[in-house]
Amino acid sequence: MHSCISILNERGCFPISRSVFPTLISNDHLRSIIGGDLLSGRLGHAYILEGPYGSGKHTFARLVAASLSCERRTDDRFPLPCGECLSCRKIRDGFSPDVFMVGREEDRATLGVDAIRKLREDLWIAPNENAAKVYVIEDADTMTVQAQNAFLLSLEEPPPYAVFFLLTENAAALLETIRSRAPILRMQIFDTDALSEILKNDPRIETLARTQSEHFRKAVSAAGGSVGQAKRLLVPASEEAAAILSLRADAARIAALLFSANPSESVQILKNLPKDRAESVKLLELVLSALRDIAAIKKNASLAPLFYSDPDECRAVGDKIPLTRIVSAYDDVLTAREQILANTSVQTVFVGLLMNKH
Ligand SMILES: [Zn+2]
Repeated sequence: MHSCISILNERGCFPISRSVFPTLISNDHLRSIIGGDLLSGRLGHAYILEGPYGSGKHTFARLVAASLSCERRTDDRFPLPCGECLSCRKIRDGFSPDVFMVGREEDRATLGVDAIRKLREDLWIAPNENAAKVYVIEDADTMTVQAQNAFLLSLEEPPPYAVFFLLTENAAALLETIRSRAPILRMQIFDTDALSEILKNDPRIETLARTQSEHFRKAVSAAGGSVGQAKRLLVPASEEAAAILSLRADAARIAALLFSANPSESVQILKNLPKDRAESVKLLELVLSALRDIAAIKKNASLAPLFYSDPDECRAVGDKIPLTRIVSAYDDVLTAREQILANTSVQTVFVGLLMNKH
């Protein structure tokens, strides 16, 4: 059964016609159930999200977290979440202090009671920046029985601002006592035809499907109905455009320069800055992706990076750099991006960014 979270009620209900989760692919049942709960201020405190690897469980949990804390959540001229405000971007990029990922330690097969104890210690501390605190328990079915029982205590009487998402490939492996307190939501799985159509909405993949049809067909059939997994199999080969590759290489160099002074390299970057403002924004967004990888891999070395094709390169940049410095570099790049969007000269912004060492 749902227990009510009152965050949105206090601010009044949203009109039901508002667009919810605009970036969510298909999964109309989730849009309708959770979107409806959000809009009517009846979101429950806990949900089990079930689906295979790459089916979008993390993405969905982040979308709900962003909806609860979006700066435009009470402004129905925008979709929910808007995806553009600082709060939405921090949640999407994994930099929000109010969204917690709880996962297994590296090389451990189970999620033990220690991790749940840490969660419970944090739970009663009020949110830092946002209206809600969202806890995402990864591979929840790997929780030991002891961990599940410890978690049950939090699940039974959570603070009003807390929402839990238990991610799992197999909800049946969770204790019945947990399953009875959190509705099970299943991520949509696609057949190969539907999956092909969805993937072709990405222009890079559409090109690839035409130029390398055999590779495309094999990847789609190997993806097990999951969009995320298919993209993972396809995207490395689709990034053939030299311009994209060169922009990514520049982004990797800038990310490294944020943590170690190298004047001659900085000068070179400054000499070859993109002429175009939109291109500069794209470059900074790639730097943000790189920083997100560096922070994520620092927290969990077994994660696969999304920006870096070589995990060792990613690890090398973040090595010996404390997480707080990475977060502060991320904030500086966000500011630089805002400045470029607000028409500050590209040269001035990049000089400021590269000269402000972390
Ligand atoms: Zn927003």
